Amino acid sequence: MSKICLCLTGKTLTRNIEILEKNRKYVDIAELRVDCLEDDERFFIRRFPEMAGLPVILTIRRNIDGGYYVGGEGSRITLLAKGLANAVADQRRNFAYVDLEEDLEVPSLEEAARAFGTRIIRSWHNMEGVDEDLSGKIRKLRWIGDELVKAAVMPRNLDDVIHVYKAAKETKDIEKILLCMGEYSANTRILAELLDSRISYTSPADEDDAPQAAPGQLTPKEMVELYRFHDITDKTKIFAVVGYPLTITDSPAFFNHVFKMEKINAAYVPIPADSVDSIMRLAEEIGISGMSITIPYKETVLSYLTHQSKEVVSTGACNTLVAGPDGWLGYNTDALGFSDSFLAFIGKKDLRGRKLTIVGAGGAARAVAAEVYRLKGKALILNRTVAKAHALAEPYRFAWAGFDSRGADLMEKYSSIIIQTTPVGMAPNTEADPLEFYNFSGREAVMDLIYKPEKTCCLKRAEKAGCRILTGSDMFYRQARNQYSYYTNREFPPSLISRADYS
Ligand code: NAP
Repeated sequence: MSKICLCLTGKTLTRNIEILEKNRKYVDIAELRVDCLEDDERFFIRRFPEMAGLPVILTIRRNIDGGYYVGGEGSRITLLAKGLANAVADQRRNFAYVDLEEDLEVPSLEEAARAFGTRIIRSWHNMEGVDEDLSGKIRKLRWIGDELVKAAVMPRNLDDVIHVYKAAKETKDIEKILLCMGEYSANTRILAELLDSRISYTSPADEDDAPQAAPGQLTPKEMVELYRFHDITDKTKIFAVVGYPLTITDSPAFFNHVFKMEKINAAYVPIPADSVDSIMRLAEEIGISGMSITIPYKETVLSYLTHQSKEVVSTGACNTLVAGPDGWLGYNTDALGFSDSFLAFIGKKDLRGRKLTIVGAGGAARAVAAEVYRLKGKALILNRTVAKAHALAEPYRFAWAGFDSRGADLMEKYSSIIIQTTPVGMAPNTEADPLEFYNFSGREAVMDLIYKPEKTCCLKRAEKAGCRILTGSDMFYRQARNQYSYYTNREFPPSLISRADYS
């Protein structure tokens, strides 16, 4: 079973214990990063295992390997020796592991470690990419049978991540720690069990004086409470949210919570993907059962489907993939999520006689436009790229325009309802307002599909002018409940419909 390790990068031993106490209930092991300690503190590292009261890894990471140690190699070896000196029979008072890089050849250190049961982690860090022959590298890393091999690599794209999962399979016979760093790493950290990695490293949250030990680390709380790390086994079904760049999304919190409540052995992870092609290859490599597709792939994913639901056909966009026996089945839950939420908001059964402005012409706008048409409404599609507004409007005989004076004039006739579907104003760029050229009269009903932040800058302005407003949250949960049914072939449990249940 993979274990969670908390990297302690505080300046003093006492500070590290404070950080450990805040995270203790989530972690199995701690790593004392001596390279982050103040010089005076380094004299006392030998005391740390006893202070910590759980297995501790002794690490002094060099600058070239992504650490903070800038002194000479001689003084680093002396420090490592200090950490291993005066070992005692009670192993809980010794370091449980010592991290020695593959090029550090100091037999006396190894002897000192072995004499009192401190296990050697033989580590290799590639801060630039992923080694072409990563399996070969892992095999060469282990010098002596009792060492625990550690390879930490930096994927530059999703294909690199696939390469790491493949290397994990090819080296199943070797006991190891295998991890990715950087923007593509989250899924590999959560799914450490799939990589057959004995340890997954984490960093504490919100500790200004303790830097993140390696790029891309999650917090222990996220690993345990959000992603249910300890429940993941090789039998766990994997689901994912896929997009690029992958911005903040509530989907992992929603699905992991519901899977837990319903006792379904499944994990839901975020996967930033630089191409649809590569996500398909990764899905095959690790056996992904279903995916939520987000910006910018809702349209490009269509060519990978063996079945398209009628909503996918009518909208030309797909946000839900389910692995079928002969390929991917595609659904669009945005469409009904939008119309159910919006009709409930205005208290009507359809949009007959209504004239709306739809801002945007991307994946979500396609679902909105198709539903407005189905519900007998009329719309103006307003988009930055006029040609895309035209293309979306044409099949429905809707009006279309750009963000210009013609658009502003036309909007006067279509502004009793405004549906904002662009990502403009979404976190982290919460100050942006896609409708800054438009003055709300206060009579409009305004919906923004964005749900992070809950109330966008545009919605706040509309509300201030007296408009009725609807955020994207209700739509998000409605469409997610439908995704759940596609993923699991089960009705969404009515007892979990209240939003408070997801947090
Ligand atoms: P998308 O396909 O990438 O949408 C792109 C659209 O936004 C295009 O019309 C694009 O205009 C426009 N746009 C992008 N940047 C712009 C800018 N700086 N200024 C003006 N227009 C800009 O994304 P999507 O999948 O439709 O998602 C859009 C938003 O809806 C996201 O915030 C997403 O979170 C939200 N959403 C919410 C739900 C929910 O359940 N609440 C469901 C789906 C989506 P051009 O054509 O000119 O590039």
